[in-house]
Amino acid sequence: MDHRHLLPEEIDLLLDGEEGFGVNPLKAHVAQCAGCRAEYEAQREVAAALETLPHFAPSPRLADRVMAQVQIFEPWHVTLRDRVARALPRTQGGRTFVFGTAGVMAVTMSVLTVWLAHRADAVLFLAALLGQRMREAVAGGVNDAVVSAVGQGAATTVASNGLLGVGVAVAVLALAVFGTAFGLKSLASAPRGRRG
Ligand SMILES: [Zn+2]
Repeated sequence: MDHRHLLPEEIDLLLDGEEGFGVNPLKAHVAQCAGCRAEYEAQREVAAALETLPHFAPSPRLADRVMAQVQIFEPWHVTLRDRVARALPRTQGGRTFVFGTAGVMAVTMSVLTVWLAHRADAVLFLAALLGQRMREAVAGGVNDAVVSAVGQGAATTVASNGLLGVGVAVAVLALAVFGTAFGLKSLASAPRGRRG
């Protein structure tokens, strides 16, 4: 007599009616061992009872109904890739053009950055010059605007308070810039209709 009792998967082999070289020793053990025989018989009854139950099949539309309730969270990089893919032209030529343009822009920006880094003093001088010219232009513009709006008397007052005039002009300029920026932002975030 084989003294090792059957493992659960060995009883499954017998229940499945497997035939073969390895199954014969199991059958021989069941024939000799009351404990394993009882276990085998009990499981065979359960298997037979399960076979008598009606077989159910899910509705073919079950998967669709379940997935309709599932919230799928899209990782940000997938969203970005999809948006880029949608924004790109469909044709190979169009894509080549876009990538070529982007490449030229990137190279130009890189070269410009390197050049600026090596010419910091020249850039600073240029920026200072531009700033001075801009201040003069803004002061002149404010003067002209005040003259046309409230007359020469007030303009003289503003001109004598040059700093205040520049401050007002800067405030007006800032308002205009912010207004434009918000306008562009609302344009950009407006619904873009149905997605392709
Ligand atoms: Zn046994």
